[in-house]
Amino acid sequence: MQKKTAPEKYRPNTTIAHAGSNPADNQGFVNPMVVHASTVLFPNVATMLSGNQPYVYGRRGTPTTEALEDAMSTLEGAAGTKLTPSGLAAISLAMLSCAQSGDHLLIADTVYGPTRNLCDKVMRRYGVDISYYDPCDINGLGKLIRKNTRAIYTESPGSLTFEMQDMREIVACARAHDVLVMMDNTWGTSLYCKPLELGVDLSIQAGTKYIVGHSDVMIGTVSANERAWPALRAMHGDLGLHVGPDDVYLALRGLRTMSVRLERHMRSALEIANWLEKRDDVARVLYPALPSHPGHTLWKRDFSGASGLFSFELKPASDSSVHAFLDALSLFGLGYSWGGYESLALWAQPRSARSATTWEAAGPLVRLHVGLEDTRDLIEDLEAGFTAFHAAKG
Ligand SMILES: *Cc1c(COP(=O)(O)O)cnc(C)c1O
Repeated sequence: MQKKTAPEKYRPNTTIAHAGSNPADNQGFVNPMVVHASTVLFPNVATMLSGNQPYVYGRRGTPTTEALEDAMSTLEGAAGTKLTPSGLAAISLAMLSCAQSGDHLLIADTVYGPTRNLCDKVMRRYGVDISYYDPCDINGLGKLIRKNTRAIYTESPGSLTFEMQDMREIVACARAHDVLVMMDNTWGTSLYCKPLELGVDLSIQAGTKYIVGHSDVMIGTVSANERAWPALRAMHGDLGLHVGPDDVYLALRGLRTMSVRLERHMRSALEIANWLEKRDDVARVLYPALPSHPGHTLWKRDFSGASGLFSFELKPASDSSVHAFLDALSLFGLGYSWGGYESLALWAQPRSARSATTWEAAGPLVRLHVGLEDTRDLIEDLEAGFTAFHAAKG
């Protein structure tokens, strides 16, 4: 039997292969058991009343859910992690764990669209005040903090438009006002960005994306430091959130290969981003890993890699030429989500989803997820798109 590993002491690519795994406690099997469970039996009333049995009820946790939670906590350097049925559910859990009626939350203007919807519709309805802030204006952020501000919500880089936030400055500002910081770290993943090391209290991921990696499961994770963990843990239990064991298992299985997949996503995305940047029909490429990106220095400081998702702005063109571009693609599928092995494209329209800032761009924006395919095929696919784009422009 293998000895119990202590993944904290290893480098990230080793940690990701072993974190949360304990074959010695699992009859030698490398992977955890997939436990389908609601009821757990107790040997007698005294044990039932004592609360000392490790597992008491399916919803409260099983060896399967604990394996993924432990792996995520180790990777994130967290006091604890909770799993949710989707990435959006992870965001609502994190928000509900730190705000109540009468509190105020500051939300980056460039957040994932459904996060904004959650704030505007649900949080406001339950009496939580919401303000949006310019993700790149740290002085402006400080001025928005009120007596009842409980947390600053961040997402770096921002959805669709990839603005980098200065996480160190935001954390310093939050600390000075005794305010919590949440970060949606789906783009960076636990491998390329370590929010808790930057001082963030709650690190959120849509595991649906790179952790799962195969576009076949929806799951979310929230990892918390000591300060935020008790409230997160309690809210998760109170809400009754639970993820089915097969989905948890697939997420853990995906996690084990995330480092090799991400290396390829990054290499291919950089190649395609560089190729796009040289084209006359492209106005700019919004990918923090490119030296031309306004947030490149922040990315280099706080991230150790980039994932395969970025946007580019076309030179001004009609709606019908954007349609023609996207409809001519065959390897890049038209679809939501990202982080799977396959390439995706969509027409990004950030203008209507901004309230503290305005999206200034003369041309249309296309978001690409660069999958694991051969980049020569992907570039040929994009070339077909550009041919159709120009034909439609006439
Ligand atoms: C997709 C996504 C989410 C939501 O994840 P789901 O699993 O689809 O609910 C949250 N944040 C970001 C940045 C995302 O891209």
